[in-house]
Amino acid sequence: MLNDCDLVIFDCDGVLVDTEPLTSRLMAKCVTELGWAIDQDYAVEHFKGRPLDEICGRVGEHLGRACPELAEIYRERMYAEMEAGGIGPIDGAAELLDALAALPSPPKVCVASNGPRRKMAISMHSAGLAERFGGLDSPLIFSAYDIGKSKPDPALFLHAAAALGVEPSRCVTLDDSESGMEAAVAAGMYAIGVAGLTPPEKLAAHGADMVVQSLRELLPLGAARA
Ligand SMILES: [Mg+2]
Repeated sequence: MLNDCDLVIFDCDGVLVDTEPLTSRLMAKCVTELGWAIDQDYAVEHFKGRPLDEICGRVGEHLGRACPELAEIYRERMYAEMEAGGIGPIDGAAELLDALAALPSPPKVCVASNGPRRKMAISMHSAGLAERFGGLDSPLIFSAYDIGKSKPDPALFLHAAAALGVEPSRCVTLDDSESGMEAAVAAGMYAIGVAGLTPPEKLAAHGADMVVQSLRELLPLGAARA
């Protein structure tokens, strides 16, 4: 499918940039400090790939009080850690982009993330991938915050496809979260699940057309099952 599509839509966190270990650890710490003791595994299982306002709502429900401060505390620390520590690319991301660009009829590529643009900018720049999408102000970078709708709603994927003039049926998505699988299925796109922190069977259960453990399994493109 990657050999014969017109647009490949990459999720950012966990597909292009290796931010998930940092963000899930930090989310567990912030929620624990508010009074609900959870660990990183819990954060991965329940919060990964979910919109931040939804997470705040769920934490508030558990604590029995609204906690709007969670979003601010979490974001502030996340940006500080990302800027200080450096974020690397996901293994195989650069090679996959190279392989796509080398196809006889290369598909367009773009990024669609539930995260805010600032997070995408810091992490993609740090991972050395920003220029591959035309720089940080590129029209190939789509944030859920731009349209006010987050995955699992298919709106973000559909918005990206429409903006780039590609039919959903000609799009392939790569995402590492259940919410990304649901969004792709609802958008009528081919969904490749990239199992990192999320178990492959969960991505399959949420509608993945295929699941890989590593982006390298998609290479070389001529031999890929996709
Ligand atoms: Mg992700």
